[in-house]
Amino acid sequence: MATVQLHEIEKSFAGTDVLKGVSLDIADGEFLSLVGPSGCGKSTLLRILAGLETQSSGTVSIGGRLVDGLRAADRDLAMVFQSYALYPHLTVAENIAVPLTMRRLSGAQRLPGIGSFLPGSRALRREIATTVREAAEMLDIAHLLDRKPGQLSGGQRQRVAVGRALVREPAAFLLDEPLSNLDAKMRVHMRAEIAQLNRRLGATFVYVTHDQAEAMTMSDRIAVMMEGELLQVGTPDALYDHPADIRVAQFIGSPA
Ligand code: ADP
Ligand code: MG
Repeated sequence: MATVQLHEIEKSFAGTDVLKGVSLDIADGEFLSLVGPSGCGKSTLLRILAGLETQSSGTVSIGGRLVDGLRAADRDLAMVFQSYALYPHLTVAENIAVPLTMRRLSGAQRLPGIGSFLPGSRALRREIATTVREAAEMLDIAHLLDRKPGQLSGGQRQRVAVGRALVREPAAFLLDEPLSNLDAKMRVHMRAEIAQLNRRLGATFVYVTHDQAEAMTMSDRIAVMMEGELLQVGTPDALYDHPADIRVAQFIGSPA
């Protein structure tokens, strides 16, 4: 669990300013949605927070600690992408276990996703299996642990991806349009589940979406971004009732 602070983040790609000084304070345990039209810089901001991209200027703190020099793996965050990025040749259980097995192997030994073939004690394997099962039960996929990703629906695959983030017990979860590959019915179902996960875990969630309805139903606060700038940050009600300008009103769908 941790606060997340972005301070005056700027980013340019080949001379084009994509982020123009974004500052955002996210509280411990908060569910914050970052919304805005396609291309406004949401993914870039999230990737900078995750350490997958380096900002041109500005600072990032997690849990009150500056993390700008730290690699993604050392930031204590878990990221869930729109594409599930599961290992097709591993079972669901092995896919969820990947971060746990990675953590316990080092350097040259590090081989992603060989959960059940790992050296190490029986007690360790049991502990990993228990953690994986708990995560799977929380996500209602415990009956699928022996299947391969190719045998799952889109919604089930997304749960596996969330499960893999869950077992790391990260300080914060970063989700980049995790539901956009799902059909409408599954999307609505997963919305509720992810919001519930935030409450149950008490972890900080930063949730990127271009779908304002999604953000309105899930979030403690919403940050509205356009062309590399934050226009407004507030609760769903505050944004709806008191949009800072016409662009926010249009995006949120407030009456004119
Ligand atoms: P969003 O997630 O809101 O759709 P992105 O953060 O993906 O927006 O992209 C913001 C802008 O930055 C877009 O114009 C995109 O083309 C550009 N961009 C993103 N990543 C790169 C990159 N690696 N190289 C060059 N331009 C990029
Ligand atoms: Mg994006």
